[in-house]
Amino acid sequence: MGFRLGRSVAVVLAMASFASLASGPVRAESWDSIGRYASLIRRAGTETMVAKDCPPSLLGAFHSQRNALLLCSNNLENDPKQIWVVLAHESAHVMQHCHGGALLADHQVDQALEAIEARSRTTFQELRLYHQSQQREEIEARLVQGLPPQEVEALFRSFCADRLLRGSVPVPPGVSHEPPETP
Ligand SMILES: [Zn+2]
Repeated sequence: MGFRLGRSVAVVLAMASFASLASGPVRAESWDSIGRYASLIRRAGTETMVAKDCPPSLLGAFHSQRNALLLCSNNLENDPKQIWVVLAHESAHVMQHCHGGALLADHQVDQALEAIEARSRTTFQELRLYHQSQQREEIEARLVQGLPPQEVEALFRSFCADRLLRGSVPVPPGVSHEPPETP
């Protein structure tokens, strides 16, 4: 990648959720989904990063060799809806990476295309910009980016289940609750 990878998304997300305290419950909820989902992605072993110097039209990227998801803060508005869509989109590429291939069965692709076209003509037309070898991946990512956060998270938990298990830290024995002392 031709750009420097910036500070951890966690820092930016922490500031973002702080800023959202002033702007009502809907925004707070969206920032919350972003923060929660980003930490789930990290638990599966994928780094999440923010770059401030991406090329003009790049909003985000997933780099499979580095296993790193990138958000381009210089091209993104401070708008949780937009950031969610980009995070969800790139996370679909993480799912493809976890799963080692396509997320949809062959017979589901046409249906996915119809769903994307029904939701957004622009998003549908963007697909033509991709080389055929990338189109399947991009169709899947565009389908995922339009799903509600709980569904995206559920898909991630299922496609990246092995990595989430491997990354989990067992609770050490002996730290569980002692009975309260009687006075
Ligand atoms: Zn993509």
